[in-house]
Amino acid sequence: MFEDELNKIAAYQGLRKVEPFEYRKGPEILINGRRFLDFSSNDYLGLSQDPFLKQKIGSVFETVGMGSGGSRLLGGANSLFEQLEYELSESIGKEASLVFGTGYLANLGVMTALSQKKKTIFFMDRLCHASIIDGVLLSGSHFFRFRHNDPDHLERLLREKSQTGKRNVVVIESLYSMDGDLAPIEDIIELKKRYDFILVVDEAHAIGVLGKEGRGAIEDRTREAVDIIVGTFGKALGGYGAFCLTSKVIRELLVNKARSFIFSTALPIPVVAWNLEALRFMKGLDDRRKRLSELSEDLREFVKNDLGFTTPGQAQIVPVIVGENETTLRAQNALRDHGIYLRAIRPPTVPKGTSRLRISLSSVHSKETLSRLKDALRSVEF
Ligand code: PMP
Repeated sequence: MFEDELNKIAAYQGLRKVEPFEYRKGPEILINGRRFLDFSSNDYLGLSQDPFLKQKIGSVFETVGMGSGGSRLLGGANSLFEQLEYELSESIGKEASLVFGTGYLANLGVMTALSQKKKTIFFMDRLCHASIIDGVLLSGSHFFRFRHNDPDHLERLLREKSQTGKRNVVVIESLYSMDGDLAPIEDIIELKKRYDFILVVDEAHAIGVLGKEGRGAIEDRTREAVDIIVGTFGKALGGYGAFCLTSKVIRELLVNKARSFIFSTALPIPVVAWNLEALRFMKGLDDRRKRLSELSEDLREFVKNDLGFTTPGQAQIVPVIVGENETTLRAQNALRDHGIYLRAIRPPTVPKGTSRLRISLSSVHSKETLSRLKDALRSVEF
């Protein structure tokens, strides 16, 4: 019975496989005893291995152990959470914040807490992450999806489908995880002058990497107009967990309505300690951000000019949109033969016909690692 189901999945989209590795170190990853240059991780600032952070939190484990003991509302509210939330609000610039178990749980919690079932309507970008889609579906509210990064289409939907007296919610990402392109946030904020809506922006891939002191893609002067920002510790901050930045009143609503917050064990304390130290540390890493941005620009030019592929984005996620599944998988495997590790991304994670190699750059990469990647890409027959 289960085999039949798996066979159907295999025929429809191919089966997903977990590929274990031994360890990561700098730009390298060790898989089955073989070293590869790694272009697959979201550890954009190399913080997950940072010696300074490791040394900083080494003693925390000695004193507090691991588990938090319960959900934040039932025995798991170590005061370090409050400290982390205070510093998140202060350093990124929002009135209040709330820590969640993961970004997936944060999006589930935000969408369901904002929803009052039939009194709420969601408008989300067509390329929004699965956790946003799942949250909206779980909320049981009506929803509409607008064309990717198309504020005109969003405006048309708002004009035709939003309703006064209902809670209209627009959800976007600031830096899209599979295309590496930035949302027209200012244009979407502009729509707030003509339509009444709550704006949620998922900054999972941008916080730590973009903006002054890593505050994200949203400009300081416009952050006020964004009602909820979702961020994660699992990517540029090299930790685990996630957070929302918002107003005090929305935070209160989340504490009382977001079931993924209420009914789930709070993060382990050493992880909270790591997240806090990483948050403090990332502010001073403008030099790494600059290097990462230069590497990204260099690779993007190469993908366009030398390989002849369109690559839509502007930041550290550089997709090579190959198209067909088989060709993309073949390219992925050919790159492995050249010692390059990256992942082919296929539908349903991305739209049909847009299978791609997702190149994820990090500040641990250098011009030299990039030129090894370029040589390998040149030798692939697409
Ligand atoms: N939002 C976006 C845009 C993401 O790309 C991801 C993770 N891929 C998440 C949320 C989920 O975050 P986490 O991995 O912390 O669950």
